Amino acid sequence: MNLKEKIQEISALPDGVDLIGVSPIDRFLELPEMGRPTAFLPKAKSVIVIGSQLFQVLTKKLTATRKIGEVSYRDFYNAHNETVDVALKQTGYRIARLLTNQGYASINVGHDLTDYRTITGAFSFKYAGQQAGLGVIGKNGLLLTRAFGPRVRLSAVLTEAPLPCEDVVFEDLCGGCDICYKVCPSGALKAPSADGKTDYDRFVCCSFYTANDGCGLCMSKCPL
Ligand code: SF4
Ligand code: SF4
Repeated sequence: MNLKEKIQEISALPDGVDLIGVSPIDRFLELPEMGRPTAFLPKAKSVIVIGSQLFQVLTKKLTATRKIGEVSYRDFYNAHNETVDVALKQTGYRIARLLTNQGYASINVGHDLTDYRTITGAFSFKYAGQQAGLGVIGKNGLLLTRAFGPRVRLSAVLTEAPLPCEDVVFEDLCGGCDICYKVCPSGALKAPSADGKTDYDRFVCCSFYTANDGCGLCMSKCPL
């Protein structure tokens, strides 16, 4: 069994993850230097991205109208999210440990690397997911996967191991759909600009999200 097959075997364990893909390091060259994997692991050769589904039975019940004192589906969703993150971190750690023990320096990247002054992540899991062939970025600015739409959490492993990689997916999964920006209650998400880029104001979204103790309608209402 080669190294990549062993990584896939770890990911498929009963407490593993649903999605796995690998990107070569050169697909990150278009990012600013401080956002590239090499900013954290200078001799990195590959980025492994792993993902797990969020249960649709919970996401489809999300609202942005929680009343004070109300127990809502969001409470169950938040607990589910935390559990998925723990599973991703554990699988990422197992993969990074396997590679390290094979002589390849590796780092498992924890989920939340957000700098809350700018609400920007030091490492973009969505970008990495796209480069690793897991899906495409949709009009809602989220990674859309064929199996679970945008209902996925992601994590990553940076490694010096030169692994076989996946092809990037070039597919328009949104088509003529406009649901996500039509349902956005804050106006943070707008129709994409003429060049197809998502028009999203993270500060407006974050203010609304905080004031209403949650939202996520751009994810939960996506028909994929
Ligand atoms: S989380 Fe809510 S407010 Fe933020 S972009 Fe999505 S729909 Fe809009
Ligand atoms: S709701 Fe529609 S337009 Fe928005 S991301 Fe999903 S498929 Fe694309």
